[in-house]
Amino acid sequence: MCIEPGATQSHPGMSRRAAIAAGAAVIASAAVASPAAAESRAGSRAADRAGSGAADGAASRAADGADSRGGGAVGNRIESQAGNGAVGEAGGRVGRHGLRDLTYPLGPSFPAFAPGEEAVRRTVTTVEDDGYYMQEWRVIEHIGTHVDAPVHFTAGGRTATELLPSELVIPAVVVDIARRARRDADTVVTVEDLRAFERRYGRIPDGAAVLMYSGWGAKVGDADAYRGSDSAGGLHFPGFGAEACEWLLRHRRIRSLGVDTLSIDPGNSSTFDTHLILTGADRYGLENLAGLDRIPAAGATIFVGLVPYEGGSGGQARVLASW
Ligand SMILES: [Zn+2]
Repeated sequence: MCIEPGATQSHPGMSRRAAIAAGAAVIASAAVASPAAAESRAGSRAADRAGSGAADGAASRAADGADSRGGGAVGNRIESQAGNGAVGEAGGRVGRHGLRDLTYPLGPSFPAFAPGEEAVRRTVTTVEDDGYYMQEWRVIEHIGTHVDAPVHFTAGGRTATELLPSELVIPAVVVDIARRARRDADTVVTVEDLRAFERRYGRIPDGAAVLMYSGWGAKVGDADAYRGSDSAGGLHFPGFGAEACEWLLRHRRIRSLGVDTLSIDPGNSSTFDTHLILTGADRYGLENLAGLDRIPAAGATIFVGLVPYEGGSGGQARVLASW
């Protein structure tokens, strides 16, 4: 079992009740070997938040009409689309504490990066005929809300089963580029976006997942719109710029990049620079995340419930955020 480096920052004086109140313990204790370590981490983050005012920042962001994530209008629209919304609790704004599901339900209509790669399912048995109900699925590892393991773009990189529990329960921040993405489907997260984020919300913690919110989830019910398909067969949706990825690896030692689109590279990329840089640094990606407008910009912990496919280049994951 691995030892979480963050545990060294724990606050022994934090009570069990305070740690649980921080919310993260609910997720973390289910996912890591040592509930005590998980609780101390949660307590540590709660104390960090109390000190930095990040939670207050989330509250003020919700009241800030200029911030596209604050009002929850996009999120409400996603969740009102039956079958297309994130699985999770209904309604709710970003509050001081919360638990959100960032996972889309996976079905045959979920948009694939390449048409024809959609999930396929059939009913194998029914309660009526067989006494029990069961489906069979045929899925690629990169459909729906999923992980890109390092081996996905880097020969010899680690597979799904080789990612450690301590890498799958990590702090997360959300960089909002939705206003720009509404005007420009090819926009990317830039280093300047990251600097602006830090001026507003504080430094991105080491070992974090940096998640892009572009508002793209509003299109998920229409595969062509979600892919941003053009008449020449090109794709158009936002992603991370290669410079931003390099900056985060070098200066913030991130663990993961995540997006609310089909790929961590923008749709119009043909060289997949961000995939190559991220996986080349032994880090993993998260794609097709839902509900990123419903979690705090800073201060949440995500749990990445990656299916441990043997030899997996990645795989489906139930991703939850707690704060
Ligand atoms: Zn993928």
